[in-house]
Amino acid sequence: MPELPEVETVCRGLRPKLEGRVLTRVIQRRPDLRFPIPPDFVERLQGRRIESLRRRAKFILATLDDDTVLIAHLGMSGRMTLHEGLPPPPGPHDHVEFVTDGGWTVRFCDPRRFGLVDLTTTQALGQHRMLRDLGPEPLSDAFSPDYLDRALAGRRTPIKAALLDQKVVAGLGNIYVCEALFRASVSPRRSAHTVPGSRTQKLVPIIQAVLEEAIAAGGSSLRDYVQATGELGYFQHRWQVYGREGEPCGYGVAPGGPNRACDGVIRRIAQSGRSTFYCGRHQR
Ligand SMILES: [Zn+2]
Repeated sequence: MPELPEVETVCRGLRPKLEGRVLTRVIQRRPDLRFPIPPDFVERLQGRRIESLRRRAKFILATLDDDTVLIAHLGMSGRMTLHEGLPPPPGPHDHVEFVTDGGWTVRFCDPRRFGLVDLTTTQALGQHRMLRDLGPEPLSDAFSPDYLDRALAGRRTPIKAALLDQKVVAGLGNIYVCEALFRASVSPRRSAHTVPGSRTQKLVPIIQAVLEEAIAAGGSSLRDYVQATGELGYFQHRWQVYGREGEPCGYGVAPGGPNRACDGVIRRIAQSGRSTFYCGRHQR
């Protein structure tokens, strides 16, 4: 599933091809994805210039020259592909296509159709049902240690569930929360309100570092992916804890960690239906 760094990578890949460009043709091949597509989708987009493209949580937002905002979400399996000139014939899952006056076509492919495209306006964007309850962006100044302290106060859910709550912080997914808690030495099972302030002081910059490292990996992958397949935003990344069940922990070998490597073993448990990987030895 694309997570925040993948979506950020998609945005960074699309931006130079879309910003300032006119949508000369929009092709819609089905009436719905996860939700119905607005009936006037094509006519509202065709002929409009894209002023800016940005990410909010895991949503891609394109603002057009008439203040229309195109919202796209990749869902579970959505992909954006970029094609210069005439694209190859569409596959069965290529549902929406955006042709620009710059010679590039963007295709939205979504086999499982958990993704979405929708239209709103800049004025109504903050009240959109998918966006209105989102907490601060994890990479913004609003996501500060003091903010997180206040957000966790009184919460009796496990810290992992609290960090996955999109009202607490927007766009954090399962893998990145596991990684951040591992590096912050906080047990994913610990009740959120018992995480001391000294740990939230550490947790916020660690969450930001984990995301920024992945975004950097995505950025360096961009050129290869565009050249090879036109596909944006999927890249290999090595995790410190995710997917390492049964392996020795070894935390602390990395520069900046404690001097001695942790001799715990990575465990996997289920929390609210999702896999959590953690080390019971150094994560408390
Ligand atoms: Zn450990």
